[in-house]
Amino acid sequence: MKKNDLAGIGMTSQRTRSRLVSRLRDKGIKEESVLAAIDSTPRHIFIDEAMAHRAYEDTALPIGMGQTISQPYIVARMTEILVDSGIMGNVLEIGTGCGYQTSILSKVSFQVYTIERIAVLQSRAVERFKQLGLQNITYKHGDGFKGWSEHAPFDAIIVTAAPDNIPQALVEQLSIGGRMVIPVSQTNGEQQLFLLEKTEQGMTEIGMESVKFVPLLSGTL
Ligand code: SAH
Repeated sequence: MKKNDLAGIGMTSQRTRSRLVSRLRDKGIKEESVLAAIDSTPRHIFIDEAMAHRAYEDTALPIGMGQTISQPYIVARMTEILVDSGIMGNVLEIGTGCGYQTSILSKVSFQVYTIERIAVLQSRAVERFKQLGLQNITYKHGDGFKGWSEHAPFDAIIVTAAPDNIPQALVEQLSIGGRMVIPVSQTNGEQQLFLLEKTEQGMTEIGMESVKFVPLLSGTL
């Protein structure tokens, strides 16, 4: 890694990153802690060098193994929904992918637990956490459908791939007052984002915007 790689130059510079933050504000992201996390996280190190010049466009990009890095707006929106709805103590992420969303979470949470089913993506993500000096991330290679019972309950759960139904194990691993943001595939082929909250009385569920994620798949690779 060359000296300028982390800070970025030209299309990967701080100025380019700050322009992305302005665009996210224009699109309605208001939570300052989330905007600050995006402003200080070099998204270009999470993608292939050949595509680094596109890192600060507000689009999803391929990260290999048929997976994608989520669109910055969606990363910001899902994080904002969780930050705005309660505490960010123990946070569980399903679908580490390249680790960009994980890194944003790490800056607005006390401790992040993240699970990825594809080993090679996970090991690349872990390298990036080290490079960025992020020390509150605990990771494992596994099937996120099962959650991570050893570290439950979680104050917040974020799922960054879409199942057909909300995985019951994840609901069980939420604390009272805990929230989950999750995209769910609908019968018409679209996906809708949901915010769930566990209360003393049971679960509440709010439908949010439509989204487009890769599918949540069982088993590991
Ligand atoms: N959070 C990422 C998005 C990655 S794409 C970002 O910041 O951009 C979704 C990821 O979920 C992929 O890497 C995919 O391999 C992973 N995934 C899919 N099903 C999974 C499962 N059951 N458990 C863990 N990870 C899963």
